[in-house]
Amino acid sequence: MADDIFDLIIKGEIPCYKVYEDDDVLAFLDISQVTPGHTLLVPKAHVNDIFDYDEQIAEKVLLKLPKLARAIKASNSKITGINIQSNNGPSAGQTVIHSHWHLIPRFDDDNLNSQLAPAIDHSADFTPERYQAIAQQIATNIKEV
Ligand code: 5GP
Repeated sequence: MADDIFDLIIKGEIPCYKVYEDDDVLAFLDISQVTPGHTLLVPKAHVNDIFDYDEQIAEKVLLKLPKLARAIKASNSKITGINIQSNNGPSAGQTVIHSHWHLIPRFDDDNLNSQLAPAIDHSADFTPERYQAIAQQIATNIKEV
């Protein structure tokens, strides 16, 4: 199977703003930044979507979600909530066919409605320096992931 965009990021062949990595997962900023700090948690194993997970992969990936969520919240005192979403299958809006979990920080004044909106693209508002500063702030708040 040909590498998808997330395989290339995992291999380091395409750069990313990394916030966490271990043997099983990579977490990095979503380029679109629906809100500042929008992070993707991606299994390194190539699983297309939730329907592909076995118990071992599910445990390795899903147990990281609360710890990553806490690090994101701790990275910015204005973050008051977080949406966690995974789109599975093109009919559900999945555009990259390599399973991933969106962690989208929410702010009291973010002017988004309460439904999840990972299709919003704010990348034009983000310089490399701003992405890097956000990724670093999350990474330094990760504890025992
Ligand atoms: P999906 O629509 O499959 O749920 O989400 C795919 C996500 O991947 C989108 O939010 C999109 O912004 C993000 N994305 C696509 N290509 C890249 C990339 O090259 N780098 C990063 N960091 N994110 C990407």
